[in-house]
Amino acid sequence: MLDLDALKARYRELAGEEPEGLWFAPGRVNLIGEHTDYNDGFVLPFALDKMAVIAGGRRDDDQLVFISLELGDEIWTPVSELEPGTQGWHSYLAGVVWALREAGHDVGGANLVMTSDVPLGAGLSSSAAIECATVATLADLYGLDIDPMERAKIARVAENAYVGAPTGLLDQAASTLCQADHGLFLDCRTLETEHVPLPMAEQGYEMLVLDTKTPHSHVDGEYGTRRATCEAAAEKLGVPALRDVTDLDAALSQLDDETMVKRVRHVVTENERVLKAFDLARTADLSELAPLLDASHASMRDDYEITVPTVDLAVDTAKASGALGARMTGGGFGGCIIALTRAGEAERIGQDIADAFDEAGFGEPVWFTVTPAPGAGRLA
Ligand code: ADP
Ligand code: MG
Repeated sequence: MLDLDALKARYRELAGEEPEGLWFAPGRVNLIGEHTDYNDGFVLPFALDKMAVIAGGRRDDDQLVFISLELGDEIWTPVSELEPGTQGWHSYLAGVVWALREAGHDVGGANLVMTSDVPLGAGLSSSAAIECATVATLADLYGLDIDPMERAKIARVAENAYVGAPTGLLDQAASTLCQADHGLFLDCRTLETEHVPLPMAEQGYEMLVLDTKTPHSHVDGEYGTRRATCEAAAEKLGVPALRDVTDLDAALSQLDDETMVKRVRHVVTENERVLKAFDLARTADLSELAPLLDASHASMRDDYEITVPTVDLAVDTAKASGALGARMTGGGFGGCIIALTRAGEAERIGQDIADAFDEAGFGEPVWFTVTPAPGAGRLA
């Protein structure tokens, strides 16, 4: 739970006055569209009702002061000494100041006191939440006129160039652009977006998010090989990216490597599923999305081979316990699953998964229900 009184008290302790304002940005889950982003494809995330909140104010001494209530640190850095590649959690925030200045925005010193209830490192994008909250804070404090997509891009530059994590735009776009009760359809090639209605509560559904708490071992290497295989396949097929494969059977018949066949089949069918989900959400009952979630999971398990036993057990148990559809969400090798359930059932299904984990000798998962929430903005 976010404690905004504690946040403001910590700000007052630091600055000796009230913050100039409070700004927030949420974490996100990806409803569907996994490993499609670097193939120039489609994704459909929505923002969580879990968020980072920053109490912010300007300073006139060129200093940046970063405080995280979660980590308890207080870190001082002069604006003139920002250096890409700096280690530590504050580099996500410092990177935003650096990226803003690189983009020509006049940003000076600031007190940035932060708290967040997005779980760290669970694949729910706690990093984008703190970056996008920082963009929102500094844009208002320094009167910068930056449109939402540009804000997302600046947050991404912070993560890619300053922190040094090679991520796509999905996380920052979701954290910045999302609307309440909507998903965000994003075309990763053109960066066109469209808000897609996800009226879960209104239609009598809930979305369970369950963190398997599985440590992500070898995840960077596995990500790299998946990416390289996709690039090699696109080259073999003579297309700029796998997004451009229009006839899957014809494409697969041109490939002789069994692994490559599976990877291509996942990416192409996953893109099709995102487009289907996009169409269905606009017109149909959300329960019709459920088979797409199931198919996405099977494809990640069998073709892209990025699931692990905890994740598969969580999804199988969710389904056996009455979830309408379920899938792993995020890059894979652990992390979270999502399950679409009838209203009132998510909590019990989460408990059933925890019981199954206990029986299998796996660690304890953490779970909660989520409602599609709005992207970054000012809180007070
Ligand atoms: P994810 O984005 O999936 O949560 P990442 O590894 O991309 O995982 O980002 C997690 C990192 O973001 C943490 O290790 C920490 O450096 C930083 N971070 C996120 N939330 C906070 C917070 N509340 N306080 C300090 N640092 C945070
Ligand atoms: Mg992250």
